[in-house]
Amino acid sequence: GNVTVMGIEFTNTTLEGFMESTVRPCLDGSEKCFIVTANPEIVIATRDHPDFKETVQSADHVLPDGIGIINAAKMMGTPLQERVSGIDTMRAMLAYAEEQGYSAYFLGAKEEANRKAVERAERRFPKLKIAGRHHGYADLDDEAFVESIAATEPDIIFVALGMMKQEHWIRNHMDRFDKGVFMGVGGSFDVLSG
Ligand code: UDP
Repeated sequence: GNVTVMGIEFTNTTLEGFMESTVRPCLDGSEKCFIVTANPEIVIATRDHPDFKETVQSADHVLPDGIGIINAAKMMGTPLQERVSGIDTMRAMLAYAEEQGYSAYFLGAKEEANRKAVERAERRFPKLKIAGRHHGYADLDDEAFVESIAATEPDIIFVALGMMKQEHWIRNHMDRFDKGVFMGVGGSFDVLSG
């Protein structure tokens, strides 16, 4: 079951449970999946931006990324199992991708942070396939640009354009892809590269 916090429906799961119930089957079945990891800042932004709320509601899963969400759910008497952060989910996906031979595309952040994030991922997961990478300061909605990413046929697409921008990009462009687990990862490339 889902748990609604401030108008957003969260998937009530654990990281391990989510990998097993959703991420692995999606990758193994070459399906498409849009995952939002939402902290309180994101939930608040959905109140101020109806189009962003629609985008978040269009996701297949919204994960509780922040103790504020966990606490709010508990106070309402509908507790969530645990905080599932974007960075932990990203690491778990990378580990599974390496194990199974799936590829990941890294879109977003500044050129140096993007490159370093990929380098770190390759060092930590040596057999990981990198489908490709691009910094986040291109003409992101350009058809040819989107096509150049889709053409790499990534199994996982990490999008680090900052909240709202990254979720809108995924919502607007995931129909160009035949498969893929899509997730906005905010400043995670900077964490991974730092
Ligand atoms: N970013 C990007 N393109 C943009 C805007 C932001 O690639 O047009 C990247 C930025 O370099 C950073 C990440 O998105 O790595 C998060 O940006 P920010 O801290 O502004 O977003 P937030 O903290 O709101 O998620």
